[in-house]
Amino acid sequence: MELWYTEEQTDNIRFGVKVKRHLFTNQSDFQKVDVMDCFELGRTLTLDGLMMVNEKDEFIYHDMIVHVPLATNPEIKRVLVIGGGDGGTVRELCRYEGIEKIDMVEIDKMVVDVSREYLQFTACALDDERVTLYFEDGIEFVKDKVACYDLILVDSTDPIGPGEGLFTVDFYSDCFKALTDNGILVNQNESPYYDQFSHEFKRAHAKINKIFPVSKVYQFHMPTYPSGHWLFGFASKGLDPVDNEGIEKWNELGLKTRYYNTDIHRGAFALPTYVKEMMKDE
Ligand code: SAM
Repeated sequence: MELWYTEEQTDNIRFGVKVKRHLFTNQSDFQKVDVMDCFELGRTLTLDGLMMVNEKDEFIYHDMIVHVPLATNPEIKRVLVIGGGDGGTVRELCRYEGIEKIDMVEIDKMVVDVSREYLQFTACALDDERVTLYFEDGIEFVKDKVACYDLILVDSTDPIGPGEGLFTVDFYSDCFKALTDNGILVNQNESPYYDQFSHEFKRAHAKINKIFPVSKVYQFHMPTYPSGHWLFGFASKGLDPVDNEGIEKWNELGLKTRYYNTDIHRGAFALPTYVKEMMKDE
């Protein structure tokens, strides 16, 4: 008998993955947490039935959320990760010797516990001595922080449930305050392709654009997310991720990556016309 995981990506689009074994399922205080072993994707984490992380393509997302800001500002020392419960973002951050402190604020301890047990490929650096885990709401955590982080990465779920408040003007304003003068904010910015995702993308970008002097969007190919066309927001108080001679210096670090390179760094900010139009809409 065949077992399939089907994700309702929109009301009219479904995504199906053949499952070898269903390894874990439980309901936390925040969401339904499932881990499966899939034929094509390997170990796979879903939250409320939505694809979060899988062995096959997580490298793309975690390369692009970390190496773009680190190539833009190689002086980054203090990082705040909001969400990121699978640990993949922290894993990539820990590859930088210059980073001194990583605070990861994940609202749901069950996600971290499950990732430590079943997703060692992403959770492997959570015990790095520079990492401090807080099982709290990132929205509250950032409220009283002033100029104490060089980088904030919002590695969150979609703007529903606990993730909803991570897409608000108040939250982005609190992030602005929590960042140093050379601070950078990278946020999960959904997708331009299906209406329900492009609606959130436009709203998030319009809010960030009002708060940060530099506010751009970059794209990457994420096969198992709805449409495969996914976006991160890049905002800063002055540092530009493209008009920046320093980007190529990243190559001197000798970090081996499977997706990120300094060519795709620059290319990711070159957006399709329809996406650029959306950024003007709001
Ligand atoms: N890195 C994966 C990806 O590719 O998108 C998924 C990121 S991680 C699994 C998303 C995390 O955000 C979840 O573990 C969820 O519990 C967490 N989260 C959602 N809302 C949050 C909030 N308000 N504060 C802290 N963490 C939150």
